[in-house]
Amino acid sequence: MSEQATQVVCPNCNSVNRIPTAKNAREAKCGHCHQPLFTGHPIPVTTARFGRQIERNDIPVVVDFWASWFVPCKAMAPVYERVASEFEPEVRFLKVDTEAEPELSARYNIRSIPTLMLFRNGKVVAQQAGALGAEALRSWLRQNGAASAPAFQT
Ligand SMILES: [Zn+2]
Repeated sequence: MSEQATQVVCPNCNSVNRIPTAKNAREAKCGHCHQPLFTGHPIPVTTARFGRQIERNDIPVVVDFWASWFVPCKAMAPVYERVASEFEPEVRFLKVDTEAEPELSARYNIRSIPTLMLFRNGKVVAQQAGALGAEALRSWLRQNGAASAPAFQT
């Protein structure tokens, strides 16, 4: 390989992009749909898009399984949003609406919401049931190795 690159799945069109590690990933755009690859916000995903997002991203992917009607989930939403803007582009933040995507909740045996799952190369590496505050969420991500080896020179 002549240049080091990190694979990132586009949050808009689900295409796989290769970003040279020397590039500022925050400014990178998708080669297919030309939308930014990182928006600073968690990305809502459907069952159809989920597999590629967790399997083809080289960066760790954290998923919030949530429901819009549930108060603890609503309370955690701004926390998740804030921490996403801090950890991108080293970690991808996704949201799964458990009511709209019951198949995913069943696949991952989600018994309580919110549940956070951290994936690496398609595998669950950590799981957390119950809402977290911002500091607890940052620690949980760091403890589980998210952003421990920076993927980009940002
Ligand atoms: Zn795209």
